[in-house]
Amino acid sequence: MASVIIKQEICRTLKYRHPWIFSGAIKRIEGTPALGETVEIYTESNEMVGRGAYSPKSKIAIRMWSFEPKEEITKEFFTKRISYSIESRKKNQIASAGNSFRLIFAESDGIPGLIVDKFADYLVCQFLSAGAEYYKKIIVEVLQELMPCKGVYERSDVEIREKEGLPLISGILAGTEPPELVEIEENNLKFYVGIKNGHKTGFYLDQRVNRSLVAEYAKGREVLDCFTYTGGFSVSALNAGAGKVTSIDSSGPALEMLKKNIELNNLDSTKSELIEAKVAEQLRKYRDMGKQFDMIILDPPKFIYDRSHLEQATRAYKDINLLGIKLLKAGGILATFSCSQPMGEELFQQMISYAATDANKSVQILHKLWQSPDHPVAVNFPESSYLKGLICRVG
Ligand code: SAH
Repeated sequence: MASVIIKQEICRTLKYRHPWIFSGAIKRIEGTPALGETVEIYTESNEMVGRGAYSPKSKIAIRMWSFEPKEEITKEFFTKRISYSIESRKKNQIASAGNSFRLIFAESDGIPGLIVDKFADYLVCQFLSAGAEYYKKIIVEVLQELMPCKGVYERSDVEIREKEGLPLISGILAGTEPPELVEIEENNLKFYVGIKNGHKTGFYLDQRVNRSLVAEYAKGREVLDCFTYTGGFSVSALNAGAGKVTSIDSSGPALEMLKKNIELNNLDSTKSELIEAKVAEQLRKYRDMGKQFDMIILDPPKFIYDRSHLEQATRAYKDINLLGIKLLKAGGILATFSCSQPMGEELFQQMISYAATDANKSVQILHKLWQSPDHPVAVNFPESSYLKGLICRVG
């Protein structure tokens, strides 16, 4: 097995067990490890730190598998890590909220680069790093043993793989191919998920807890759900007794699915209006018409991938939030989110305060929201904290 020797000054930071080692931290490599192969990590004073996956094309040259020098990266290793993740989902009110949840959340579950979502009887995987790709066969075997399912499907058609020197791929890995629409349960509601063609792995499981909390405010209100996708929030709001829900998305197929989801739950479709449009444009239209709502949900896609665009992205968030705040009746509710990792909670809240000032309205925070617990954040890997939200009362 090849060895990687880390520069002395970096070794100090390794003791905090952050799972990434950047290429600049490497002093030298002994041997010629292949893409994704496991390497042994040593300090300059020849102390073994642990084992990691080698990724020569990426700036993140190594993703640590283990900081225990004795721990070998075998099938047993993956069985241990995956069992621990499954145990957490079974015990921490996650599995009881429905039959679908994130089973493995990469670095934060101790398996860098691996995402596994469970949708009813199917598992959907993303192998996002060279190391996860290298052990794909073993990982799929272990998943089938520990979480028996009808099929394991791969959705590694994500650009981030290019940074690792991996092709964008998708397809069946084991068992039977999922149907076009898989029916799942979440918070006592049903949703269709397009595993093969939907966004990411098919459904945004990270909003589960927030959907049920936001819905508590929807009763009797006229709700505007912006960036609705397949209607996670819209369906929850209708089910909670919203007077009317208007749902906006730029994707026609997503709105088609939302329509199906309303039928699937036997909800009153006459209370639902679907609008295929760009959110900012539609909000400006409403502003010009003088239209007002009792409640507005803003759950936009990721606006930024790296810090260099933070200022620009903050302006974009502020624009839609300013419009949203202006469109609310007195005492209205704003449920607003950002899933851009580089935008921290503090900046997000500050952005809302600037929008409130510009709108000349008083805004109070009622709840601070976060990603659901099947997307845990390992304290040694704060980068996995990405979703933040606020439920506000707008005066
Ligand atoms: N709220 C959803 C998830 C939103 S994902 C849920 O709970 O499941 C973001 C959505 O925004 C996607 O469906 C995408 O099609 C849509 N989108 C992206 N840019 C948009 C824009 N400018 N205007 C309207 N919709 C947009």
